[in-house]
Amino acid sequence: MKQGIHPKYNEVQVHCACGYTFTAGSTKNEIRVETCSQCHPFYTGQSKSIEKGGRVEKFNKKFNRGE
Ligand SMILES: [Zn+2]
Repeated sequence: MKQGIHPKYNEVQVHCACGYTFTAGSTKNEIRVETCSQCHPFYTGQSKSIEKGGRVEKFNKKFNRGE
């Protein structure tokens, strides 16, 4: 087996714009991202509406023209 074919992966800190930090494997020393699984609308959209109860849902329904 030949060694060194793949670039060396380090455990690096990934800094998100939301302040969340997590580790990931990368060849870089540091990674900065604008969205992560903690703040991306795709992930937070559901949990937020659950946390805030029906208030936001009502608001959305009010302005939802019920297509
Ligand atoms: Zn984030």
